[in-house]
Amino acid sequence: MAPREAGAACSYVKWQVRSVHVDPDGGQEGSPTEEVFDAVVVANGHYSQPRLPSIDGMEVWPRRQLHSHSYRVPDPFRDEAVLVVGCGESGLDIATELCGVAREVHIAAKSVEDATTPSPMMSKLLANHAGIRLHPPVDRLREDGTVAFADGSLAAADTVIYCTGYSYSIPFLDTAGLVTVDSSRVGPLYEHTFPPPLAPSLSFVGVPMQIFAPWFFQAQARWVALVLSGREALPPEEEMLRAVREDSSAREAAGVPAYRTHAIPAVDRYEYLEFVYRHSDLPRMEEWKVELFETSFTNAMEDREAFRDRDDGEYSESIREGLRRWRRLAGAQYEAALCRCCVR
Ligand SMILES: Cc1cc2nc3c(=O)[nH]c(=O)nc-3n(C[C@H](O)[C@H](O)[C@H](O)COP(=O)(O)OP(=O)(O)OC[C@H]3O[C@@H](n4cnc5c(N)ncnc54)[C@H](O)[C@@H]3O)c2cc1C
Repeated sequence: MAPREAGAACSYVKWQVRSVHVDPDGGQEGSPTEEVFDAVVVANGHYSQPRLPSIDGMEVWPRRQLHSHSYRVPDPFRDEAVLVVGCGESGLDIATELCGVAREVHIAAKSVEDATTPSPMMSKLLANHAGIRLHPPVDRLREDGTVAFADGSLAAADTVIYCTGYSYSIPFLDTAGLVTVDSSRVGPLYEHTFPPPLAPSLSFVGVPMQIFAPWFFQAQARWVALVLSGREALPPEEEMLRAVREDSSAREAAGVPAYRTHAIPAVDRYEYLEFVYRHSDLPRMEEWKVELFETSFTNAMEDREAFRDRDDGEYSESIREGLRRWRRLAGAQYEAALCRCCVR
């Protein structure tokens, strides 16, 4: 997929798109077709291209290694000693699931100190599961099946599961270098959505992380639709580029690592709300829903095993009242839909 007329003024860029039909097994069906589009929205997700660390010995390690993307259920690891590399969302979820099935569960964190402070999540997990052992980073995978950690300690492992996240990958996009994609960043992107030199004919929906995904991406999609239909205008290219530079500087000043370039709340905790109100026509989220979202998030951070089991009684009165109203409304809508079906 490439601009048809490289160097043309952005509003006149047209996109030459070559596509092939792929069957569910990945095989190609038929011959490629070529079409020309005025605009392209890239929404290919960013949770499918595993990001693997580079660890001495991993190419020749004789035992099982996989990325969390291939993990489904704990059963295949029964009675094994499993090393989970990384303690983000996937690492903690998988380590918890493996407890009680695997013989030993080891977690290798980039930094033991960061993993245990300030969030109580890891400490709680370790306190609840004596079988989980937390280690510093892996130094080397040794040919005898043992793993050497950075502090010199060793552990034998049957399997290593890399819970080391995902890379951005847009192999089909050719912008002659105007947009670059690396494992942790797509850019330059004005507000994580429009590349200034090619806006608005090229846009990206779904690049941001650490947001309330469905609602946020809906807002992003609506913004793109508003711009492409001419109902909203983007600032001039120079202004968008300046905003991108300012955003990068703010992230750098706040010590945000490169792999969190598109983490929306990295600098301002409420930016995910402001983004939606700034750019989309979605109504403001009711206060009790914001409170519910924030409370659920905090609960999950504090106790990832039990947060789903909390009942309404543990929420504030405003959340409980909001839930009561929402259930009445959802119930009435359900009844109305049933009636419509019966009438037909
Ligand atoms: C383990 C895990 C748990 C998660 N849990 C939550 C959660 O609880 N709540 C939450 O809000 N979010 C969660 N997320 C994040 C959520 O999955 C994503 O935010 C969401 O799926 C993003 O939607 P998307 O449409 O942008 O991308 P995706 O859902 O990834 O969809 C992208 C689509 O594009 C297709 N595609 C890719 N390349 C091409 C191509 N070249 N041509 C044609 N099609 C292509 C893919 O096949 C896919 O169908 C989780 C993610 C993971 C990995």
